[in-house]
Amino acid sequence: MIEILNATELARARETGALVANILHTLKSRATVGTNLLDVDRWAQTMIVEAGALSCYVDYEPSFGRGPFGHYICTAVNDAVLHGLPYDYTLADGDLLTLDLAVSKRGVAADSAISFIVGDSKPPGSVAMISATERALSAGIAVAGPGARIGDISHAIGSVLSEAGYPINTEFGGHGIGSTMHQDPHVPNTGRPGRGYKLRPGLLLALEPWVMADTAELITDADGWTLRSATGSRTAHSEHTIAITNGGAEILTLPTQAHS
Ligand code: MG
Ligand code: MG
Repeated sequence: MIEILNATELARARETGALVANILHTLKSRATVGTNLLDVDRWAQTMIVEAGALSCYVDYEPSFGRGPFGHYICTAVNDAVLHGLPYDYTLADGDLLTLDLAVSKRGVAADSAISFIVGDSKPPGSVAMISATERALSAGIAVAGPGARIGDISHAIGSVLSEAGYPINTEFGGHGIGSTMHQDPHVPNTGRPGRGYKLRPGLLLALEPWVMADTAELITDADGWTLRSATGSRTAHSEHTIAITNGGAEILTLPTQAHS
C-alpha cells in the first residue's frame, strides 16, 4: 500500500524527522574512541522515551531477522552494513560506524542513517565510500519531485555509486514510509529513468544508498540480524526521509539543534 499524507500528517512527519536527526547527531557526537555500542543503544532509548516517541525497532520481527530486534538503534561497524544489532563492542580509532534510526511519533515514522569515522584517523577508502553514499543520496533527492518516477531516483543514486566504482546490491534499498516504517514503493539503489511509480505530493520516501567496498554480496552474522559484506570489506550507508511536496522534495531528517 502507498500512503499519501495530508497536511496535518506532514506536519507530524516534520516533527518526527527532526527528532530522528537530532538523536542521530547527538549520538554521533558522543560515539568516540572507548564508547560501547550498548551505551549508544541505551542513549538512543533514553532520548526516544524522553521525546514521547516509539521505537520502530525494538519489537520489529520481519521474516529476515531473528526477531524481535530488542534494541533501539542499528549500529554497524566496519564490514557490517545493515540491521546492525548492538552488542558489547568498544569503538576504536578509525572504526567506520553507521547509525540507523527509525522512530514513530504521533502516528508518523521517520528513518535516517549516517556513517562516520570514529576518532582522529581518516582512512581514505572509508572517507571516499561515505562520501559516495552521501552524494548518491543528494542526487536521488535532487530528482525527486511531483511527476518524477521511482526509476528516476534509482537511476540517479545508482549512477553516482557506479561511477564511484562500487557494486550495487539490489536486495535492500529505500522505501515508502508513513504510519509504519517500511511501506511501498520499494526504491532500489539502481534503476532505469522514467520507470515505476509516479511521485505525488504527500508521499514520504526513505532513500538509502549503501555500498560495500568490493562486493554486492551480503552474509548474515551469527547474531541472526547483522548483515555484513561477504568479503569482510568496509561499508557505508546514508539515509534521509523526504516528503514529496508541490515544490519538489523536502528533507525531513535534518538536525534542528547544534551538536558539538
Ligand atoms: Mg534506516
Ligand atoms: Mg530505511
